[in-house]
Amino acid sequence: MEELVARIKQDGTVLGDDILKVDSFLTHQVDPKLMRQIGRVFAAKFADAGITKVVTIEASGNVPAAYVAEALDVPMIFAKKAKNVTMTDELLTADVYSFTKKITSTVQISRKFLLETDKVLVIDDFLANGQAALGLIKILHEAGAQVAGIGIVIEKSFQTGRGLVEETGIPVFSLARIAGFDAGEVVFAEADL
Ligand code: 5GP
Repeated sequence: MEELVARIKQDGTVLGDDILKVDSFLTHQVDPKLMRQIGRVFAAKFADAGITKVVTIEASGNVPAAYVAEALDVPMIFAKKAKNVTMTDELLTADVYSFTKKITSTVQISRKFLLETDKVLVIDDFLANGQAALGLIKILHEAGAQVAGIGIVIEKSFQTGRGLVEETGIPVFSLARIAGFDAGEVVFAEADL
């Protein structure tokens, strides 16, 4: 997605060997116009796939996922990282190691929001080592739902995530793919969408 790649070139900052900071338009401050475009690109790709729900993990997956869900006109569900007193229903859970926080948390979705008839599009802001996506796939399969695809805003293709997700047989579609970082600059690979 050209607009996204241009924005990463303009505003992204490389931190260390393997982190891209995009907090001015995606992960902290949000550019709604760019998010709406992102929503439309994924929605166009999955327009005929019979998607019934969009699923992500809080927090920064929520923003692109909500725009994709709006464009597909289906509900969006975000897996929650902390259990609270209002979560009284049966929960489906997965342990997910966070690449940026370096901690494992149990993420959860109320079973009542997922049906065996659901066909789900998973959306996340980044794909690094695939732990968030694999945790969501586990929960969705436990619910008996079908996972039609994993839609990623920024994939770091030099990490293990894409390969691990594709091993499950579920296709990955990324709007921007990063081949690596070179002296603080982002080197892009060809994107899927
Ligand atoms: P994974 O589970 O694929 O290892 O990592 C994906 C999650 O880690 C994303 O949901 C995102 O929140 C976070 N993440 C991974 N890599 C980056 C990065 O380079 N920059 C930012 N801002 N977040 C990242």
